This record gives sequence, C-alpha cells and structure tokens, in this order.
Amino acid sequence: MVTFEKIKDCIICRKVTDNYDGIARKLDALGRPVVPKEYRQELEWKEGDFIGIYVYKDFLIFRKLNTKCIFCYEERKLIEFEGKYICKKCMNKIINKVQWG
Ligand SMILES: [Zn+2]
Repeated sequence: MVTFEKIKDCIICRKVTDNYDGIARKLDALGRPVVPKEYRQELEWKEGDFIGIYVYKDFLIFRKLNTKCIFCYEERKLIEFEGKYICKKCMNKIINKVQWG
C-alpha cells in the first residue's frame, strides 16, 4: 500500500502499513503505483510522458522530465516556445549573439 502527496511539480510516494488511515493505493502485479488522477491533471501529466523516479530516504519522487532547457538542461527559469523549453541564460546568450554577432 502506498500513498501520494503533491509538492510543487513532484509527486511523493511512500509505503504505508495496512492500518494507515489516509487514502492508500495498492501496487499492481508489476509493482506499479497509480498516481491519483487529480494530481496528474494538475501537473498535466499525460500518457506517454517521461516521468523521472528518484529515491530519497523512504520516498519515491516522481517528476516529469521534459521540462529542461534544450541547450543546457537547466530546469529553472524556463521559457516555453513552440513546445520546447529554453532557460533565461541561454535566451540571453542568443539575444546577445543576434545583437552583437
Ligand atoms: Zn539553457
């Protein structure tokens, strides 16, 4: 039995015992937990999306992978353009290159 919690753009999953009094879900036969639909909708996770799985202490942390700068893989301060992401640092480099050659 596992339970889920959403923190920012991550889903935190942890194992709970049978007497856990919150909402818990069973793993399926292949060991897959089903992330609650409301969390997937909030985070715009769709079938086919790549989800990174990280282990931290007793938790599994799930996070969508395709939100990185296409040039440097930075994950913060991103600007979306036609379905791709670019960070502000790379954007400024491009602007300087265009302006100053
Ligand atoms: Zn970048």
